[in-house]
Amino acid sequence: MINFVNLQAQRCAYRQELESAEKEILDSGAYIGGSEVAKLEEELSLRTTGSHVITCGSGTDALTLALLALDVQPGDEVVVPDFTFIAPAECVARLGATPVFADIHPATLQISPESVQKLIGSKTKGIVAVNLFGQCAPYAELRKIADEHGLWILEDSAQAFGATQSDAQVFRSTQGDARIFSDNQGGRPACTFGDISITSFYPTKPLGCYGDGGAVFTKNKELAHKVRMLANHGSEARYQHEIIGLNSRLDALQAAVLRVKLRHFDEEIKRRAEIAAQYNAFFAGIEGISPQEIAAGNTSTYAQYTVMVENRAEFLYKLDKAGIPHCIHYPAPLHRQPCFAGLPKGPCGAAEAASESVVSLPMCAFTPIQDILERLSK
Ligand SMILES: *Cc1c(COP(=O)(O)O)cnc(C)c1O
Repeated sequence: MINFVNLQAQRCAYRQELESAEKEILDSGAYIGGSEVAKLEEELSLRTTGSHVITCGSGTDALTLALLALDVQPGDEVVVPDFTFIAPAECVARLGATPVFADIHPATLQISPESVQKLIGSKTKGIVAVNLFGQCAPYAELRKIADEHGLWILEDSAQAFGATQSDAQVFRSTQGDARIFSDNQGGRPACTFGDISITSFYPTKPLGCYGDGGAVFTKNKELAHKVRMLANHGSEARYQHEIIGLNSRLDALQAAVLRVKLRHFDEEIKRRAEIAAQYNAFFAGIEGISPQEIAAGNTSTYAQYTVMVENRAEFLYKLDKAGIPHCIHYPAPLHRQPCFAGLPKGPCGAAEAASESVVSLPMCAFTPIQDILERLSK
């Protein structure tokens, strides 16, 4: 049997390390916070060019904490992509603000700066950019728009911790100089492009724990301080509450699991890219199926390996017959969700089209790609 994401194979591969880390925490008597969480935050900081890192209860909590720290108020408008998981739009709406839905690029599926530009009005406070399926959104263009209008950028990197975007690309987009654009290596890491950025450690994300978990990243000391207070009941000193907060924290056990997985993370990201390259080579010879395009200068974590298919019903039938699991990320643009009825949006033709053509295929560092490609060629 082929798994969509094979978490058991991963556990088998790192079993000794995981079990010894888990046992240490369970025997320690300290289950919330403590040195394991602090060490994880340090390691995450090292991987995000020294950002302040605050771990928390989930990616969704991380979004809410970031929006609260940015002081999003009822009546504010925040531009979000129309084609993604619901969390960014949901968290904006939860705080009484209005998510405004922007269209996407039809090939990379990332939020479209042109569409964002058209949606900015007097109530707009910021942009949530989602690094969809594991590659970074077009930050050079988004940053230019944000700077012009005095907006913040919240980077939702729930799917893309470990991805990079080359500064050369950023430079090219701002300066229009194609000669600089050559390297695809050593780019700037995801979670450093927003004024504030978040990720998720949900089990099937590229870096996942064994439950819920998330983190907030920022270079801004004041924002970091505020997020840490917000996540701890608005409190800095015990039983003294400066602002209205909430409880959102990562367990020590999850931190221990993540620290083990981090040791293997670069290897896994490399393996995922190899598997994606094999899928790409296979689909290059097939009419009517095109993989999500990875923009020049980006590396992807391939949180999803997603193709756009002209005749989706026929392809799904073929996958079912071949015993290849699949998912549709996502079956409808967000503006069509009943909970968002009547909210403002741009023309979202590319988001509509994507929702009708996308199919995600099995992807993790343990995906049996040869077997899958053999089944597909029959
Ligand atoms: C998974 C995901 C989230 C939410 O993360 P949780 O940890 O499940 O709360 C937010 N945004 C995007 C784009 C996601 O894929």
